[in-house]
Amino acid sequence: MQYRIEMFFNNIYKYSKKSPKRIIIIGSGPAGISLALELEKRKIHSIILEAGNLEYNEESQKFYHAKVIGDHLVDDIKYSRLRMFGGTSGHWGGTCRTLDSYDFNSWLIEKKDLQPYLKIASEILNIKPLFREKKINDDFKIVEFQTSNVKFGEKYKNHIDKSNYIDIIFNSPVTNIIGKEGLTEKLEVKFENQKYYISGSKYVLATGGIENSRILLWSREMNKNFIDKNLPIGNNWYTHPYHILGKGFTNYKTATEYFKHNLIEFENAFGWGKDTKTFNVSPTRKFIKDKQILNSCIFITTFDRKNNNLKNIVKNLLCIAPQISHNLLKKFEKKIFCGTTFSSSWEQNPNFQNKIRLSNELDGLGVPFANIYYKKDDIVRKTARVMMEELGKLYVNKNIGRVSIDEFLYNNMDYKTDGGGQHHLGGTIMGSSNANSVVDVDLKLHSNKNLFVLGSSVYPSGGHANPTFTIVQLACRLADKISTEI
Ligand SMILES: Cc1cc2nc3c(=O)[nH]c(=O)nc-3n(C[C@H](O)[C@H](O)[C@H](O)COP(=O)(O)OP(=O)(O)OC[C@H]3O[C@@H](n4cnc5c(N)ncnc54)[C@H](O)[C@@H]3O)c2cc1C
Repeated sequence: MQYRIEMFFNNIYKYSKKSPKRIIIIGSGPAGISLALELEKRKIHSIILEAGNLEYNEESQKFYHAKVIGDHLVDDIKYSRLRMFGGTSGHWGGTCRTLDSYDFNSWLIEKKDLQPYLKIASEILNIKPLFREKKINDDFKIVEFQTSNVKFGEKYKNHIDKSNYIDIIFNSPVTNIIGKEGLTEKLEVKFENQKYYISGSKYVLATGGIENSRILLWSREMNKNFIDKNLPIGNNWYTHPYHILGKGFTNYKTATEYFKHNLIEFENAFGWGKDTKTFNVSPTRKFIKDKQILNSCIFITTFDRKNNNLKNIVKNLLCIAPQISHNLLKKFEKKIFCGTTFSSSWEQNPNFQNKIRLSNELDGLGVPFANIYYKKDDIVRKTARVMMEELGKLYVNKNIGRVSIDEFLYNNMDYKTDGGGQHHLGGTIMGSSNANSVVDVDLKLHSNKNLFVLGSSVYPSGGHANPTFTIVQLACRLADKISTEI
């Protein structure tokens, strides 16, 4: 019965590599594909069920509608993920970095536990395994990012096609995870109003940072004696705010001397042009502790204007530091780069009240859409403000330039997360107890024997680093775990 589904799916791949010990992976984003690739190396069969198609289409994307209740998150959350082969990597930015060791304080594992997977995760993402940093003083360090060009669907399509160990079925949205007393028995997949079932030895939910919670919440509601009713599924949901925090001007020569490093630099950061230079400044562990703030990275992007246009310089100076602009102009002569933008992506603390819940509104397959309850805590704004104030002092003390901090950091009003809100973290966080977490150290659902959750939804805290590199590391680690059990 379970194989009947293959006849009904738009399945371009041969669905012939069957094995009773197969692993069923739900979702073909970076998480799902990385896991399948790593299982393949260990000669373990997996079947990926992908809700979307090979290509993007608006019909599929409609299932990603969600309502945000509370503060500003993104303008339309439907597009902050992609329901298609390769998942959201179809339009991600590709920026990669490992989490800092102190980002793991609330995890059950440490940074060193993911270190064995650094090289292979970098290979999967086609980047150098270099995430170095250089301390510049007690408060700040320059950090290195890598940029991946991998869209998982495009890069791994041919590989999966030829693989003897990986099958993929498109248009197969999982609508219910079925089981009893902690044992997952089968998955319900809906296609053209018909229900089909598929089973395996282990199941891995890898549907992204909102869907992981949504599917678990719905499956719990549909199966009364399967998923522990006390698990805080959907709670502690958070993101990385991103915002422009201020403007300024930078003496390029002084800045490059002070922030000197030989790390790989962002080229054309944020698409602001090739004539920009960006310094990535992060707080040290000590600074975070002393100031009682969260982790963060400020991107100081200077625009090369070659100073030909004196009018521009004067205009910038006057608006940023009217009183001193006259003297500074004399000092910097032709060395000044006017127009520096301070933007930041920073940490948000998981808050139990920020959560995903099921809406009363149903999608086309009868599954409730997600409602996201979302507020930004004071510490989130404080983190950005303190970072900017200290950088401002550094600019003055080291005669690097002058900084003007955006007003929103000093009032209590909500602020747009601008290009942020695209990283969906939490909702099924890792922890030791059923009362305050959803998965255990091995990413297995608490009180469950064979259902794992993979993705940034398991992060109990997310630092400032873009999440996907860590997702891929976790996928490699999960492959190790699964292979020892099979
Ligand atoms: C605009 C943008 C820019 C970004 N830039 C960066 C960046 O620079 N660096 C970075 O690290 N991260 C970035 N991200 C985040 C990054 O895209 C995600 O971290 C990453 O894609 C998560 O991988 P995933 O596999 O967990 O989830 P996804 O990539 O979302 O994949 C989930 C998969 O599950 C499928 N699925 C969903 N529901 C079901 C179901 N019911 N049944 C079967 N299949 C299902 C989906 O179709 C999809 O293929 C960005 C995100 C956005 C939106």
